[in-house]
Amino acid sequence: MEVAARLDEVRTRIARAAEACGRPPESVRLLAVSKTKPASAIREAYGAGQRDFGENYVQELEAKAAELADLPELRWHLIGHLQRNKAKHVVRVAAAVHSVDSARLAVELGHRAAAQPGDQRPESLGPRGRLAVLIEVNVGGEEQKAGCPPRSLGDVIEAVEAEPALWLCGLMTVPPHTDDPRGARPFFDQLVALRDEHGGAARLPELSMGMTHDLEVAIAAGATWVRVGTAIFGERR
Ligand SMILES: *Cc1c(COP(=O)(O)O)cnc(C)c1O
Repeated sequence: MEVAARLDEVRTRIARAAEACGRPPESVRLLAVSKTKPASAIREAYGAGQRDFGENYVQELEAKAAELADLPELRWHLIGHLQRNKAKHVVRVAAAVHSVDSARLAVELGHRAAAQPGDQRPESLGPRGRLAVLIEVNVGGEEQKAGCPPRSLGDVIEAVEAEPALWLCGLMTVPPHTDDPRGARPFFDQLVALRDEHGGAARLPELSMGMTHDLEVAIAAGATWVRVGTAIFGERR
């Protein structure tokens, strides 16, 4: 199936899931996760109206951003684990980083973003010239997973807010895998509870949660961004 047709199916899934829980469909935004997929597939999705794309690896993000620099409204989101020594590369291309998981990383990103000349800052999800940041939380407490532990969330939030070149946008999580997507619900609920504990939607407006497998469950729990790869671009090798 073509990317455009798959994209349509995903939009329909999102709209149905939103309606099923009484939310306006436009309250859920779609991030198309294009990791490992060629620039041509991204171009196809862009042609079908998709504007936000997520990548996991900094090098791949940079290469695709260069290849697709002619698409003026395209916004790149970094969703994979970020090492501090790569922060300087990310601030050149990203509209948002969903995977900030420590105060040290927030400080480094803030400094790098501030050092980026104003006219060279990429399009932002938030106020002009400020890099939008979501804090990734490891709600499942899995050892091998990225994300800050819930008990450090307050410190990471404060570190992001202390950086004038960053804009605190919300929280992100990747729950432990369960074969039944409903198994993810307690983890999504936990992210919502953490948001409530730390200032609510006024301070943390966006919740990035839900992927191909469990986007309906995430939307029912309150997701405002779903990150979908496989359902749009097909299986990854
Ligand atoms: C790969 C990835 C996705 C997309 O997963 P699919 O199951 O292909 O929809 C979403 N979020 C993160 C953090 C990812 O690494």
